[in-house]
Order: sequence, then C-alpha cells, then structure tokens
Amino acid sequence: MGMLEGKTGIVFGVANKRSIAWAIAQALAREGMRLAFTFQGERLKGSVEELSSTIPGSLLLPCDVSSDAEVESVFAMVGEKLGRLDAMLHSVAFAPREDLENEFVKTSREGFKTAHDISAYSLVAVTRAAMPLFQKSGGGSVLALTYYGADKAVEGYNVMGVAKASLQASVRYLAANLGPKNIRVNALSAGPVNTLAARGISGFTSMLKHHAEKAPLRRNITLEEVGNAGLFLLSPMSSGITGEIMFVDCGYNIVGL
Ligand code: NAD
Repeated sequence: MGMLEGKTGIVFGVANKRSIAWAIAQALAREGMRLAFTFQGERLKGSVEELSSTIPGSLLLPCDVSSDAEVESVFAMVGEKLGRLDAMLHSVAFAPREDLENEFVKTSREGFKTAHDISAYSLVAVTRAAMPLFQKSGGGSVLALTYYGADKAVEGYNVMGVAKASLQASVRYLAANLGPKNIRVNALSAGPVNTLAARGISGFTSMLKHHAEKAPLRRNITLEEVGNAGLFLLSPMSSGITGEIMFVDCGYNIVGL
C-alpha cells in the first residue's frame, strides 16, 4: 500500500511526457494518490488525456490559469468529484518568445505583465481557489517549480527570471499566510531539463552542457529525480517544511568558482 493511498491532488502543467508535472504526477500516483489533471486549451487535450488515462481513477479538466472563470470552474468540478484536496502541483510558466529572446532591457510592458500573470500570480489564484478543499482535508501541500535564474542573472532567461523571483516571494508570503490553516507552500528549483518550455530559452543546449560540467555531481538531473523530490514536498514526509525553495540541481547552485 502506497503512502498516499486515500489522498487526492490536482496537477497543473502537464503538456507531454517530458513535462516535469508528469514526472511528479507519476511519483504521486505510484504512492496511491488520486489525481485531477488540468490541460491548457484544446491543443494539449489529446496528449494530456493519453497520459492521464494511464493513471486509473484520474480526472481531466480544462484550465487556462490566466482565466479566473476557468480556475473557479476547475475547483468546483474537483470539489464535486473528489470532495477534498491534499496536494496541488503548480508547474506552469510562460513568457512571450520575443521577450525571452530580446536583450532584457527591451522587455515590453505587455510581456512583463504576461510572464508575471501566468508564471507567478497564477500560484496565488489557484492556491486561494484550493483553500476550501484543503480545509476539508485538515490542510494541504502546494508545490511550485522555479529555476536558479530567479536568484542570479542567467543569460537568455531574462523576464522569466524576474517572474520566478516573484513566484519565489509568493511561495514565502503564501506559506506565512496559510501556515495557520496547515497549508504548506514550497518550491523546487530544478536544474535544466529538456522540455517543451525549456525550448523557448535561447542557448538551452549550451546551458545543459555547462550545468553538467560544473555541477558537483557532474551531470544533469533526471525527470525521475524531480519527480521524487516533488513527491517528498507534496507528501506528509515533509510535514515540517514550508516556505522553502529546495534545489534539485545536482548541486550546481552551491558552487562559486
Ligand atoms: P512544459 O512545457 O512541459 O510545462 C509548462 C506547462 O505550463 C505546460 O503544460 C503549459 O501548458 C503550461 N502553461 C503555460 N501557460 C499556461 C496557462 N496560461 N494556463 C495553464 N497552463 C499553462 O515544461 P516544464 O519544463 O515541465 O515546465 C514546468 C515548470 O518547471 C515551469 O514552471 C518551468 O518554469 C519550471 N522549470 C523548468 C525547468 C526546465 O529546465 N525545464 C527548470 C526549472 C524550472
């Protein structure tokens, strides 16, 4: 019997089998958690449906996190079908391509807003919407995904780094705000992994190579490793941890020179 048997969770951010969200969802399902998957728009429905159908008893619901109405309706459906929630994964980010590719100083007002709305504010929106369902479980655990480019200036990461800094601060403010309700909020700062979103970062292949050369473990992380770290932070194994940004990066962030 898995350690999450009888527990329920919702997953935002599966696009395909290489998505970090899918790696974490598989780890949660392996331990017996029942999951609701959301997909962003009809374009991604087919691939998310194909994956979620391999996990018995899971739900599939549309949700673009930039729409308050879609966020509201997804949690109404989850409330109806699952009754309560123990865990929520936010593995969502977006910035317009030109704002990622341009010099940072050329970031547009619109691109800055979009990146922050989808990559940072949405964590606050989905956490607020999940609260009544967490309270039915006596608490809950929320996990977001971030990157080192929030802490240091990383070439090519640009406006996404600024949005991730906002996401990390939101993790801490949400954790401080919701701790008294036994709702924990943490983030994983993952090393580079070749996913759909990563392809939007120019020079991503050399970023992978550089990380593998410099990280203490002399390699890049695997999706399975992010999956297991996500399982830890979304399970009662981490019950004393909230407001943390935990690196899963083969140690890259601890190296100075
Ligand atoms: P991915 O492309 O598989 O996942 C990104 C997801 O965001 C997709 O499922 C996409 O549908 C979703 N999304 C974008 N806009 C949305 C919207 N408006 N509404 C709902 N969903 C929306 O790529 P990934 O690398 O698995 O990214 C997942 C998370 O991990 C992101 O937050 C990303 O910044 C973070 N991350 C990725 C890496 C990496 O190297 N791949 C490293 C550290 C952190």
